[in-house]
Amino acid sequence: GETLLALCRPGFENDLAAEFSFHAGERMVAGYPQASSGSGYVLWHSQQGSLVPVLSQGLIFARTQFLVSAGFEDLSDDRIGELWPLFEALAPFSELYLEYPDTNEGRELQRFLRGFRKALEPRLRKAGLLRKKAGQRLHLFFSDSRNGWLGSSDADLPLVEAGVLRLKLPAEAPSRSALKVEEALIRFFGSADVLAAKTAVDLGAAPGGWTWQLARRGIRVQAVDHGKLAPRLLNEFPVEHIPGDAFTWRPRSGVDLVVCDVVDKPARTLQLMEKWLVQGWAQAALFNLKLPMKRRFHEAQTLLERLATGLGRHGDPVIRAAQLYYDREEITVWASFAETD
Ligand code: SAM
Repeated sequence: GETLLALCRPGFENDLAAEFSFHAGERMVAGYPQASSGSGYVLWHSQQGSLVPVLSQGLIFARTQFLVSAGFEDLSDDRIGELWPLFEALAPFSELYLEYPDTNEGRELQRFLRGFRKALEPRLRKAGLLRKKAGQRLHLFFSDSRNGWLGSSDADLPLVEAGVLRLKLPAEAPSRSALKVEEALIRFFGSADVLAAKTAVDLGAAPGGWTWQLARRGIRVQAVDHGKLAPRLLNEFPVEHIPGDAFTWRPRSGVDLVVCDVVDKPARTLQLMEKWLVQGWAQAALFNLKLPMKRRFHEAQTLLERLATGLGRHGDPVIRAAQLYYDREEITVWASFAETD
């Protein structure tokens, strides 16, 4: 059997476990999750079949994940000495990821891990275990300073250390939500500079964080909201403020991108986005869906399948979804039709 370890927002362990079980089931892999509520991580053990395809799946609730090769327990102060045989068995590595859960206890490990890295990296390098182009990363996950698991991931998988991409919010950003757009682009496409759009509509735009992210990339934005937009945003960029209703307002001509961050019933937002894409009012959509209180994975999966079916009648849909670091009780979704040439 194999074991996967994945990190998530604390409180979403059962959702991530359900998501693993769903994807394993789709691949006829038998196994079971091991998760404790609030821990910020989930283990999934297979009894039969490979979990490698699940790794590259792009899970909604997994911030990062790796294939476990061993666990370690009650390490003494000579941590490196005790772990060394495990490093040797798994090496070489191109990178060392030191990971911890996104809990209060986990974050308290950060200082210890900085010191640990300083001690460990030079030794790995000197022994030839850490070297460029090795093609895989070493993940060392500490649940506390003496216990955890280690394993590896393919260096080509776009994973960030401990699953947390820390982004800077420039002072001129009208709201913190702006970070979601940047994180979504990096998470879904590997870079925040991939938008080819020239025109966009932002539904539920106020105070303007998302609009600002688009406008600063040179995109002309029509920002729909009865609420006020940050004056600086309107002065600095060619943004048109439209005090209309997100669910009934229609563009006069098609745009490249529609984004939507209204807080409403997820099924309603989803239907709106589907309509924009199917009618050709926008070529692509980036939006948030509020999560329900219970069965969050199953609800999200059902909605996304409905979207895939709806769009699938008109083309070949591309759908990405993730609970971002900057998301709380919500997920962020990208939807478009695949280019056909
Ligand atoms: N994305 C924005 C940002 O980065 O600054 C934040 C959006 S805020 C979470 C939700 C916005 O949706 C509010 O400004 C609210 O006025 C707007 N809203 C809610 N229902 C709406 C509707 N039916 N039509 C237009 N705007 C709506």
